[in-house]
Amino acid sequence: MKFKPEQYRIEDKPGVPFIDTEEIQQMLSEANSDTETVRKIIAKSLEKNRLSLPEVASLINAEDQESIDLIKQGARQLKEKVYGNRIVLFAPLYVGNECTNDCQYCGFRTSNASADRNTLSNPQLVKEVEALEDSGQKRLILVFGEHPRYNAKFIADAARTVYSVKKGNGAIRRVNINAAPLSVEGFREVTEAGIGTYQIFQETYHPEMYKRYHPSGKKSDYANRLVSLDRAQDAGLDDVGIGALFGLYDWRFEVMALVRHTNHLEACYNVGPHTISFPRLQDASEVNFDTRYFVNDQEFARIIAILRLAVPYTGLILTARENASLRKEVMSFGVSQIDGGTKIEIAAYSDTSRKEQNLDKEQFRINDDRSLGEIIEELLEEDYLPSFCTACYRLGRTGEHFMEFSVPGFIKRFCSPNAILTLAEYLEDYAKPHLVDKGWKMIEKNLDSLNGSTNVPEIRARLERIRQGERDLYF
Ligand code: SAM
Ligand code: SF4
Repeated sequence: MKFKPEQYRIEDKPGVPFIDTEEIQQMLSEANSDTETVRKIIAKSLEKNRLSLPEVASLINAEDQESIDLIKQGARQLKEKVYGNRIVLFAPLYVGNECTNDCQYCGFRTSNASADRNTLSNPQLVKEVEALEDSGQKRLILVFGEHPRYNAKFIADAARTVYSVKKGNGAIRRVNINAAPLSVEGFREVTEAGIGTYQIFQETYHPEMYKRYHPSGKKSDYANRLVSLDRAQDAGLDDVGIGALFGLYDWRFEVMALVRHTNHLEACYNVGPHTISFPRLQDASEVNFDTRYFVNDQEFARIIAILRLAVPYTGLILTARENASLRKEVMSFGVSQIDGGTKIEIAAYSDTSRKEQNLDKEQFRINDDRSLGEIIEELLEEDYLPSFCTACYRLGRTGEHFMEFSVPGFIKRFCSPNAILTLAEYLEDYAKPHLVDKGWKMIEKNLDSLNGSTNVPEIRARLERIRQGERDLYF
């Protein structure tokens, strides 16, 4: 199912840059943000409508506490109403940190002589995947620097290798990618390897600021990066993730630009982004930050809530860049995916001797290094249903994020049952004893809430098959 653009700019053309800085700034300066307006906009979003850019500008400009509380409350309500209590889990896997770009904020930038450069060999990649499977992971995002070595073939081969690794009951069922933009042929090649989402973050959508942060290398071409996911669409890869690195420029501008990017994809391809990411700038090896645009925790929570309301159908990803207590707090504003058990040093999953973070070996500092089990335990305590589901993608139900959102009953028929089945697999194969009990209680609680609305006996039958040793059952 595809999204039908309504109010969006039919004048957008595939492959043609679409950010108009002045237009965004003008909308921000003109937006009315009195509490009544904010209330109306939230009500529109709660009816599952996409918000227009001027409406998003109003939410951004709302600075009074009452309006901010309304926005957060609205986002929480929308998440509960539309998506329920599932949180999808994944882990990043850094494959190589060679890089020819010089992004001023990144530990991997070419001018950073302190960076310890590595690329996983094939046997090392296999070991990493085995270690991740041993911890219970089913969904990975492979991360690469930008380097001629890491071309489409290299990325596709890495994805194939990851899919081929099976240890015990372990298997990686979905491989997403975060790497440099590719050509149309390149995107086709990685699609053939069965990848899921291809993520490319614009970092900052402001062209002049972009130039400052990206002085050299291929990434210095703002326009090329801006329309790179159009090329993915042209290659038939319609599962794309966008993002901005918050802290580089005014967050208000970046939120508007993320929504504008969404409009562009909707207008040109009838399908919006699968996910939106909102990483916040973290300390990195040998970097000096201009702190002018840093986003504080309150602003960060507003960013998430506003994005949730602005694009109700898309997945929102919150990463281990943020610390555990902040993650717990902001998750309720509409986050749908988080990473768990995260390590971002090359080969760190299989090298258990490594204890401390070493910034010269990492792209940036992470602030939540809890194990996957610890993260799942907290999710259960907070009444979330952890999910490793990959069913839609494997059954060819593409655009699933949009189906969950728009097809009545879809979540109860497919998403919740699959979350339950994948959690049961995790509990059987990987959970520590004290977690097993908590997990099965959560499963029972969710089965109760599904009663009458879906085929609970069929889910129970599959749970029994999982207890008997079968794996990978889904609806
Ligand atoms: N090299 C590819 C690229 O630049 O598109 C892959 C992405 S990079 C390995 C993953 C993302 O991490 C970047 O797009 C950027 O948004 C983010 N990142 C880079 N430096 C960061 C920092 N110091 N703090 C937080 N996130 C950072
Ligand atoms: Fe290289 Fe990506 Fe880091 Fe830029 S953000 S220096 S492209 S790894």
